Amino acid sequence: MTAIQRYARPSPHFDERVAHAVAVLQSAAAEHAGAIVQSSSLGVEAMVLTDLIAAHQLPIAVATLDTGRLHAETLALITRIEQRYGIVVERWQPRDEAVIRFVTRHGVDPMYRSAELRRACCDLRKVEPLARMLHGRSAWITGRRRQQSATRDAVPFHEHDRDGRLKLNPLADWSWGDVWHYVASRDVPYNELHDRRFPSIGCEPCTRAIADGEDFRAGRWWWENDEARECGLHSKPHSAAPAATSRSEAGVVVPAQAHIGAADVKAAPAAGRSQNADSGLHVQAAPAPAARVAQPAR
Ligand code: SF4
Repeated sequence: MTAIQRYARPSPHFDERVAHAVAVLQSAAAEHAGAIVQSSSLGVEAMVLTDLIAAHQLPIAVATLDTGRLHAETLALITRIEQRYGIVVERWQPRDEAVIRFVTRHGVDPMYRSAELRRACCDLRKVEPLARMLHGRSAWITGRRRQQSATRDAVPFHEHDRDGRLKLNPLADWSWGDVWHYVASRDVPYNELHDRRFPSIGCEPCTRAIADGEDFRAGRWWWENDEARECGLHSKPHSAAPAATSRSEAGVVVPAQAHIGAADVKAAPAAGRSQNADSGLHVQAAPAPAARVAQPAR
């Protein structure tokens, strides 16, 4: 069963939400001509936004953070986007010297050893490249939705980051079903991992499939206890001027915590998930019907 078959669920006022998202994008594109970018996670919400931008021929750049740790399926999606829409997706990568220094000092996968090391990795692979992506731009677009997690339940359509840059979340009020209904109706390309029970997709070492009853973002940094697990891209806006150093470059102390092996943390849980219709935050065993939703070409 594909993600569309499992999740797609047309809901009332869907067309109004689409129209509102388009209006948000059109207004921002006009006001920030030449200085606006979609920061694409390459997740399904991001694909909806890229499709809306392309369908309405909006002058908005599409960019992503190529952390060096993405799944092969995610990298393949970049090529599919470029072929489908005839665009070039900007790839913002971490600085080689920062990665080499970090890996030499802490190993390839130190994120499992402490939250501090995990955040240091996110800093150098995501936060610092994002700062370069946004430098010189006055507005950016994300695919964050209120239903994605408890920490995102107040995501507004418009906000400003720490640097005063406009930050837009045009899908803030969309449900998971809305997203997949749009994907199905427009035959939007999407990450194959969504069909393997990955509702939220990040780097390969830090993302797993989720189990019945788990929060949508439960598969992200699941070994951490902190409820507000984020990578720093949204919870801690970064200066537009790229920093000379990051936590990783400055060095971090590795605490003597219990080590979680990669073989343990990469084990995917069992089958049978679909979105809870009430909250949209969790999954349950009984899948949603795929009524009235077309199967996309893959
Ligand atoms: S998500 Fe994981 S691999 Fe990716 S930057 Fe953060 S800690 Fe590093």
